[in-house]
Amino acid sequence: MSHKKKTAVVTGAAGFLGSHLTDRLLKEGYKVIGIDNLLTGSVHNIEHLAGNADYKFIHHDVTEFIYLPGEVSLVFHFASPASPIDYLKLPIQTLKVGSLGTHNALGLAKAKGATFLLASTSETYGDPLEHPQKETYWGNVNPIGVRGVYDEAKRFAEALVMAYHRYHGMDTKIVRIFNTYGPRMRLEDGRVVPAFIGQALHGEPLTVFGQGQQTRSFCFVSDLIDGIYRLSQSDYHEPVNIGNPAEMTIMQFAEAILRITGSESKIDYRPLPADDPKVRQPDITLARKLLGWEPQVPFEEGISRTIEYFRDFLRIPA
Ligand code: UDP
Repeated sequence: MSHKKKTAVVTGAAGFLGSHLTDRLLKEGYKVIGIDNLLTGSVHNIEHLAGNADYKFIHHDVTEFIYLPGEVSLVFHFASPASPIDYLKLPIQTLKVGSLGTHNALGLAKAKGATFLLASTSETYGDPLEHPQKETYWGNVNPIGVRGVYDEAKRFAEALVMAYHRYHGMDTKIVRIFNTYGPRMRLEDGRVVPAFIGQALHGEPLTVFGQGQQTRSFCFVSDLIDGIYRLSQSDYHEPVNIGNPAEMTIMQFAEAILRITGSESKIDYRPLPADDPKVRQPDITLARKLLGWEPQVPFEEGISRTIEYFRDFLRIPA
């Protein structure tokens, strides 16, 4: 007798994280309906799913009403421009997908009696005055700054999710995602990982913003997705940080990229963008306790796999 598969909906399904999440859900035995308007996502990320009977892709903008027939047990809301360059270029779309898009995705989950998981962000902490950042920290965000369109949209989204949980009794989860890297990032999305790898592989100077003394903590995508999947199966409703606490300066990151690619690129110092957080490191005590989760992939290994992906993508021989 065949066991009926559960259906999960992923918004932002053609994005970096949405596509990896989809792969994991299919592996766990879900049917997946992916929704994306391809504003910053790419069909390249989901090409490998063509012909998979358990996968269906819908080209749709989730800021418009989402209609889906049939049963759904999980809704993952991952649609949003997510790199600083993207949300600076797409400020209104970013605000709309975090607000109207979250509302529609919650409405879908409510209509289906489904569990809902919001992809939130470490940007809710802004330029943090607490370090490392625990979930209990309320953040230091400039609402009218250039990053405000993303930070405030995600903060509004968190408030909306908690309201649906409290007032409609819905089963909801919120993950605060810290800097994540891996295959399927967009080369031109402006983020430091694809930017430096692309520059190093092309022998162009690495564009370090400011003096490169700001810090980030980079998590390999398979670790992040594992944390998110575990959270989706938990019964915890408040935000949970998922990220890798291994923190480094952007300068150290640039040096690592030069060393691992063997590139002789120089460093080109550029002005620091407005409101660029000076430090960022997740406190993952809660995820460890609640989900028995912590990152497994060491930086050298994850970054080597990512470099390999970009070499392939750019057809640059090793
Ligand atoms: N950064 C950089 N050079 C680049 C792109 C980014 O020095 O070409 C810096 C940026 O100023 C920030 C850090 O790298 O401090 C991470 O930037 P990213 O855009 O990846 O994401 P963020 O963590 O700021 O959201």
